[in-house]
Amino acid sequence: MYHNIRKLSDANIKNKTVVVRVNFDVPINNGEITDNTRIASSVKTIEYLVENNCKVVLISHMGRPEGEAVDDLSLMPARFELGKLLNKPIKFAHIEACENSIKFMEQGEILLLENLRFHKGEESKKAKEREEFIKPLAALCDIYVNDSFGVYREHASVLELPQLLPSYAGFAMVKEIEALSKIDESPESPYIAVIGGVKMDTKIPILKSLVKQVDTMLIGGAMAYTFLKAQGVSIGDSKFEKENLKTAEEILKSAEKNKCEILLPVDHIAGKEFKENTKPIEITTQQIPKGHYGLDIGPKTMSQFREVIESAKTILWNGPMGVFEWENFNKGTEAIGEYIALSTPKDAYKIAGGADTTYAMLKLRIKPKRFNHVSIGGGMMLNFLSGGKFKVLDVLCGVQKISE
Ligand code: AMP
Repeated sequence: MYHNIRKLSDANIKNKTVVVRVNFDVPINNGEITDNTRIASSVKTIEYLVENNCKVVLISHMGRPEGEAVDDLSLMPARFELGKLLNKPIKFAHIEACENSIKFMEQGEILLLENLRFHKGEESKKAKEREEFIKPLAALCDIYVNDSFGVYREHASVLELPQLLPSYAGFAMVKEIEALSKIDESPESPYIAVIGGVKMDTKIPILKSLVKQVDTMLIGGAMAYTFLKAQGVSIGDSKFEKENLKTAEEILKSAEKNKCEILLPVDHIAGKEFKENTKPIEITTQQIPKGHYGLDIGPKTMSQFREVIESAKTILWNGPMGVFEWENFNKGTEAIGEYIALSTPKDAYKIAGGADTTYAMLKLRIKPKRFNHVSIGGGMMLNFLSGGKFKVLDVLCGVQKISE
């Protein structure tokens, strides 16, 4: 898929003004970036443009300010993080006042624009409004590069801007597409998916098509409780999504029809409160008693999952197995991450992805180098692998003008 994407490496960019859509939507705690994976992923593209004497204008979003300026969602911390990574000062401006900043920057300099989502035009539902918002920026630049895998909604900076300028995919984007295409087109069997986390809503359509492709699906995290509940298993007070019980049932049925085995936790680590310091209680059965929250998978589940992981030839991992942010409930995620990283046959093809997954890997010291690829976009990765089509990628291929 998307083999015909126009690549930055094929473009004539010397001395040009290049606007690069990056994905600097990084997790921040008390003003500190806790995982810089997304920023680091664009360094290669930025350095390449600097070496080619370009003026580099970076654009990104951060969080969901919904058209208002929100101090906590400023890209200022990303500016300093990028400066550290490149060992170079990074200029900073707001899009509405960037004309002079771009005109007067030197070739080889880098300018980061403030969070585009501070403006309603970026995310407007109307293509016309999005185009109006982004047109002035297009007029100041010669070339557009998209290096923000993971951003696939129809927003001005990823859909309209590339239609106003010659547009190319950056190095990180090309790497994502090539790594994922390898799984998408010829996954070696046994092909397994390890899915966790909590956001079932965004993952459901994808799980529906993934069960048609993978041999086994291991489900952990809060997501597992919706499936267990759908099977009539008592889950105590564990987090689950009532509105998705029916869909969980459908997915279980579809898996059976498609000969995809779904493994759910058979034991748990629970807590009596949904709090970081609640005492971890091992529940040795699949049923969780009332008054308990399932917060991690238990040791029996870990060893069942391990067996499947160790015999797999293709592994896709998205989402933690428990509340990995809390010391008492991170063992399941740590173990599963380690099994994937270390215990699989040497020639297995392994991909992990998603912001929470890369953060868990960093926190639990699971080495990205042990994976063939670590994707910066969890939702887009899963969508891509379940046959999703993306207008934001179409505009970087043959199609130049996309109609609404
Ligand atoms: P996602 O963004 O869907 O990958 O979800 C990640 C989040 O799921 C993390 O912040 C985890 O703390 C949370 N999570 C994982 N397992 C559980 C669980 N059993 N109960 C509540 N939250 C969970």
